[in-house]
Amino acid sequence: MQAETAIDRFLTTVASFSRELNTARKTQDVYQAIIKVLRRFFDISSFHVEESQQDKTWVSAWNDPDFPLSAEDLKPFIQLAVDRRSFSFYPLETGSLMILPTIKSGQVVSVLMGYILNDPEEFLQEHESVLGFISFFSGIVLENLRLYQEVLDSSIVQEGLKQYFKTMLDSLDEAISVWDESLSLVFSNQSYIRLNPTEKVIQIVKDLVAQSYQQKKGIAQEKEIDSGSEDLQNRLHFFSFNSVLLGEPDQVLVRMEDITNTKELERIKKIEQIRTEFVANISHELRTPLSAIKAYAETMRDSFSSLDEETAQQFMHIILDQSDHLEFLLNQLLDFSRLENHTMQLEITTFNLVQQAQDIYSAMHNGTQNEGVEFLLESDTPEKPVKGDANRIKQVMMNLVSNAVKYRDRTKEKKWVKIQIKDQPDSEKVIVSVEDNGVGIASEHLEKIFEKFYRVNSSLTYEVEGTGLGLAIVKEIIEKHEEQIQVKSESGKGSIFYFSLKKAI
Ligand code: ADP
Repeated sequence: MQAETAIDRFLTTVASFSRELNTARKTQDVYQAIIKVLRRFFDISSFHVEESQQDKTWVSAWNDPDFPLSAEDLKPFIQLAVDRRSFSFYPLETGSLMILPTIKSGQVVSVLMGYILNDPEEFLQEHESVLGFISFFSGIVLENLRLYQEVLDSSIVQEGLKQYFKTMLDSLDEAISVWDESLSLVFSNQSYIRLNPTEKVIQIVKDLVAQSYQQKKGIAQEKEIDSGSEDLQNRLHFFSFNSVLLGEPDQVLVRMEDITNTKELERIKKIEQIRTEFVANISHELRTPLSAIKAYAETMRDSFSSLDEETAQQFMHIILDQSDHLEFLLNQLLDFSRLENHTMQLEITTFNLVQQAQDIYSAMHNGTQNEGVEFLLESDTPEKPVKGDANRIKQVMMNLVSNAVKYRDRTKEKKWVKIQIKDQPDSEKVIVSVEDNGVGIASEHLEKIFEKFYRVNSSLTYEVEGTGLGLAIVKEIIEKHEEQIQVKSESGKGSIFYFSLKKAI
């Protein structure tokens, strides 16, 4: 067997040192490995390690309490190692001081100092090779470890920040989700998970995300969602959705909140307000004809003998007109309650629509309350049999005509109302329209005028009395006939209301 040569020992040392360093995760591991290797060659009793910092100061990285020199004593030796960038030995009273700098790219990364008990005379050529190798190789490993630690630290900071924001988002009541351009969910907070959104809700969110990408801006929406639940109280939910574009990476955040309770509260408040207004309004509406009837009846009772016949006749007319108005109001209230309870019944018969329109026309034309409005009636046929509840259709026409008179434009010299009946030759329908050249309705009110209690408050209509129930009842009657009513109007020009009815033949 051949004797182990110096080069063999060197190579074995290098191999085992490399193995040790492979598993090093901390700088301490590197120093441990160095000491382990050095101990193969030297009788080392204690160690001390100083590391250079970025600001060029030195910090003790390994402070062996048995080490014979203080940090202060070591300063000149460190400087020497930095200047020479090579290992060296200095004799002490007993033993010697080994100084081993670790070097990376010509810079001293750390300085290892060992108190060794060997006789300096024993140092061999092979020791120099080992120390040179350690000095160079450990420098690289130490510097890499340092960089690795920096990366680790910054990713720890990032992870910490991520956790911080996640905790913050999780603490919010709003359900938050983040989506990428392929409409995949990237993040969701606890509220979103708790909400457990249905497919329908998720689809709404995805549509909103797609729209936000398209329009390149955040979008706000409110939606009513039918959960399909058996429990009617919990069936309808209101959600508010708000999307926000997130910069790089290109994603969309959606905030979603169940605002059912807020909406319900708003609705209850609105109903409460309407009810208060309605009570005040209807009391006033009822009081007006009642006061007139009372006043005229009292006058007649107190001064009956002194009234001439013509005045008495006039008073009786007024009392009758006001009684009719009172009856109309009470019927409207009754219809309103039927509308609320959905108990309106129709008596469907066949009747001549043209005849009915003529009756209304004559009543208005010859009536005392036509307020200087000219009435017109146009029909393309003298007879038009239709199917429907004759009394209810009369009520609809009367209501539309009296609205046309009520909302006449007092500034116009020529005021007119036109009732028109138009046959639809190719269909089973007849169209009835009531047109006026009155004050008209601004477009923002058009959709709402059929809602119960809705009245347009404008300088043109404020002095006109009403309950806001007429058109709601009219709409209910027409819809009960499975027909439709519509309106076209322009503020200042006039309005046209038209509805359809089924032909009888
Ligand atoms: P009311 O007349 O008792 O207020 P309606 O339900 O009949 O209640 O009408 C609702 C509102 O629609 C009215 O307050 C009025 O502002 C508007 N309106 C209805 N008909 C006309 C019309 N022909 N011209 C202008 N405004 C109208």
